[in-house]
Amino acid sequence: MSPLLRRIVIVGGGVAGLRTAEALRRNGFSGELVGINAENRLPYARPSLSKDALFRSDWECVPLETTAGVRWQIGVAASGLDLEQRRVELDDGSTVAFDAAVVATGVRARVLRGTEAGLTLRTADDAEVLHGILHGDRGHLVIVGAGFIGSEVAVTAHSLGWAVTIVDSDPTPLARALGPGPARWLWEQHRVRGVRTRFGQPVQSIQRSGAGYHVTFAHDSVIQADAVVASLGAVPNTEWLRGSGVDITDGVLTDPAGRAITVTGTVVDGVVAVGDVARTPSRTPDGRAVRHEHWAVATTSAQRAAATLTGRQPPVELPPVFWTDVYEHRVQVVGHPSGVESEPEPGPRGFCLRYEGGDGTLTGAVVVNWPQLLPVLSRRVAQAALTA
Ligand SMILES: Cc1cc2nc3c(=O)[nH]c(=O)nc-3n(C[C@H](O)[C@H](O)[C@H](O)COP(=O)(O)OP(=O)(O)OC[C@H]3O[C@@H](n4cnc5c(N)ncnc54)[C@H](O)[C@@H]3O)c2cc1C
Repeated sequence: MSPLLRRIVIVGGGVAGLRTAEALRRNGFSGELVGINAENRLPYARPSLSKDALFRSDWECVPLETTAGVRWQIGVAASGLDLEQRRVELDDGSTVAFDAAVVATGVRARVLRGTEAGLTLRTADDAEVLHGILHGDRGHLVIVGAGFIGSEVAVTAHSLGWAVTIVDSDPTPLARALGPGPARWLWEQHRVRGVRTRFGQPVQSIQRSGAGYHVTFAHDSVIQADAVVASLGAVPNTEWLRGSGVDITDGVLTDPAGRAITVTGTVVDGVVAVGDVARTPSRTPDGRAVRHEHWAVATTSAQRAAATLTGRQPPVELPPVFWTDVYEHRVQVVGHPSGVESEPEPGPRGFCLRYEGGDGTLTGAVVVNWPQLLPVLSRRVAQAALTA
């Protein structure tokens, strides 16, 4: 490890920033770790925000346990990155010098014009607001945007006794992320329990109306709601990097080792990007640099970035893995569930579907209630990618 690496600044206090700190320590970095987090909290587990955090009446946000020894500055945001002076500028006017920097600023909920009146769910503060509503008088909840978070909020709200309608402009939401068969199966889980779906119908606006809301569709029909959640995807938090020279087209572009790339295509020495904000070349079928907004990918990107900063061999790249919960079912996805979809293969308590590219290569798999199969499939997808 370079003796010149004395202070590493981690910008962003989510799981990716924290896991990078832990991996740096494991790799022998004993210098100073300074963390900057815009949220006024220490790193916590975001996936629970749409699950038990909303459901449990006694939920409180607990920081993730760690022994990484990061000196966190919370409630203060980075506002600039000066690569010449090697320092991060903060919105309180101060600066923090670094020998190396980790960009881990994640994403925020996307708000589309006309939908500003809907609640969003990205932070523990958002979850506290939604928790208060869902545990109050029950009524009709409309969820605009049928992604994973929309689906999980629907599960929780339904379980708490709300009437739920979930709407999306896509006729089969989640088909790209989950594969068409599992996506249809997932929405059926909602429908058989009485959750209404209105798919293939774009929403034009969400407006307050008395004590409730009007959700207006593009063809002018309106549904009334007592609460509305707008779950319309996410936007990378990269504004603070404007003018730094780093390529921030849809996140921070990195090389395969996690190092930031400039707009002119050069590698920025000593600056890495991790987690949801990083757009890294991966073994997608078309070989593009992609961002993954998944918990496990945050950890693997953190290990890779820490190895890069400490001069170690990066771990072998495994295919992306994520999960979502729908009622009592756990759905796990490995790789890219695109291409030719197999018939469902029944398992002891669930099922599995496999996906093959045009050349017959295994590109991904979806496993429902069959966690034992995941490591096996993960290895097979990784091997297939290596030999492709
Ligand atoms: C409700 C919800 C449910 C989810 N469920 C699942 C799931 O079931 N399975 C799964 O695989 N994934 C899930 N995810 C995704 C997963 O949580 C994310 O992939 C992961 O948390 C990303 O971590 P991160 O550290 O990259 O970003 P984040 O967790 O977003 O952390 C980034 C941090 O940086 C801070 N920040 C932003 N800008 C600045 C700045 N300028 N200066 C300083 N700090 C800044 C932010 O305040 C934030 O605290 C879920 C996400 C949400 C929101």
